[in-house]
Amino acid sequence: MMLVAVFAAAVTGAAKAHGELIPVGTLPPGPNDAITDVAGVRVGQVTKIEGAPGPLVPGVGPVRTGVTVVLPNDDPWTKRVAAATFDLNGNGELTGAHWVDEAGFLEVPIALTNTLDVGRVDDGVVDWTIRKHPGIGVDDDVPLPVVAECDDQGLNDIQGRHVRPQDVVTAQVKYDRLDRAGNAVRIRLSSTVVQVKHVGEMATATEVEVSYSQQGKLKTVRASHCILACWHTMIPYIASELPDAQVAALRSSEKVPIVYTNVALRNWQAFVKLKAGSTYAPGNYFTNVNLDQRVSIGDYHATTRPEQPIVLTMHRFPCKPGLPARSQHRAGRAQLYGTPFAVFERNIREQLARSLGSGGFDPANDIAAITVNRWPHGYAYQYNSLWDPFWLDGGPQPCVAARQPFGRIAIANADADAYAYTDCAIDQAYRAVGELKVGVKS
Ligand SMILES: Cc1cc2nc3c(=O)[nH]c(=O)nc-3n(C[C@H](O)[C@H](O)[C@H](O)COP(=O)(O)OP(=O)(O)OC[C@H]3O[C@@H](n4cnc5c(N)ncnc54)[C@H](O)[C@@H]3O)c2cc1C
Repeated sequence: MMLVAVFAAAVTGAAKAHGELIPVGTLPPGPNDAITDVAGVRVGQVTKIEGAPGPLVPGVGPVRTGVTVVLPNDDPWTKRVAAATFDLNGNGELTGAHWVDEAGFLEVPIALTNTLDVGRVDDGVVDWTIRKHPGIGVDDDVPLPVVAECDDQGLNDIQGRHVRPQDVVTAQVKYDRLDRAGNAVRIRLSSTVVQVKHVGEMATATEVEVSYSQQGKLKTVRASHCILACWHTMIPYIASELPDAQVAALRSSEKVPIVYTNVALRNWQAFVKLKAGSTYAPGNYFTNVNLDQRVSIGDYHATTRPEQPIVLTMHRFPCKPGLPARSQHRAGRAQLYGTPFAVFERNIREQLARSLGSGGFDPANDIAAITVNRWPHGYAYQYNSLWDPFWLDGGPQPCVAARQPFGRIAIANADADAYAYTDCAIDQAYRAVGELKVGVKS
């Protein structure tokens, strides 16, 4: 087997086998004994399980395969990491190995899949890298994907080559599978937690009791630990054991209201005439207007001709200029709750007529349908130097005080790092789990 050793990443120093620790390498293991203990390293995977166990039908199933992707950091193409390959034993292939050794660095994610799906995964890595860096192959270099393989034919219909990038886009989420009694991890759907507290004194408790409301009934569940991953402003209402200073820190977070609107157009000829695919106008009712992105994958087919229908996205961030940032978001939320659909529709029609009218756009004929998605609690509030002096001058950040674990309860959510995007939510969930694991007695 050929391995890629990412030197910037001090890969875990021990592996578990049959309950014993076998030392690997010279470095000590991290707190979770995982490659993701290394700061910035992320791992994603898709497991494909389709068809009941049974005789192999080549090209059909059963399917038992998948892909794992290791990202050394958020963008290896611009943040290369020192790397080399090493042959341990066996005969696994690793694409891109020559370039890794020649260059001495890694500039793509490392992907692992079954032997016959290497080409498809290679394709996915190239697509992903080009989407992130459109200059690739134009005025920038080209990536050589690093894909390692293993023959899974004893488990899987490998001939069927079931690993396809479009699965990720077109797969239906089967939510009910999250909420099954035998699951190792069970997510209780349509359940609102109303109270979380330690059973007995926090200092000596061995369990946490979570009370939740489901279909009008109050239910409880006990666990050795609990992570509160909800909005920080709600936590003091749910968990009454928190110290006052932490309550104040949790309450200082805020959510930004957002309106994401989709407008189905019968054609996009006006955009072609005006030679524009988007508009940005901070003073308008909708600040951004964008033609749908050109993504064709699986059953998704992007519109290619201007006489064909297309979806337009329009963004609005309700606010009240002149107030401090947090107050603006609260005022915007109140405004949003009080705005009927008719007001959105009128503004959509007026704004599109004004910005696209000279290209021949006619709202009465060209708009086929409108969907207004209102998010009164949208993005997590991000600190900024206008309203949060510590951001420029330095000083304690409220989100750090807010996310401190208490007893057997840890705190996650994007609010825990005052940053609006999903990567932060994942990092904070990971941190919260790690904090609890430290205290777990095996
Ligand atoms: C319109 C919109 C577009 C976005 N676009 C992007 C994007 O393109 N890229 C990107 O990276 N990020 C985007 N984001 C941000 C991204 O969605 C968030 O950063 C991310 O979802 C935060 O995850 P989280 O786990 O912290 O919180 P959430 O996703 O808010 O999860 C919190 C969960 O807790 C549940 N909950 C709350 N209270 C309780 C309770 N009492 N009992 C039980 N459950 C409870 C909620 O129902 C929710 O499911 C977007 C956000 C919005 C609103």
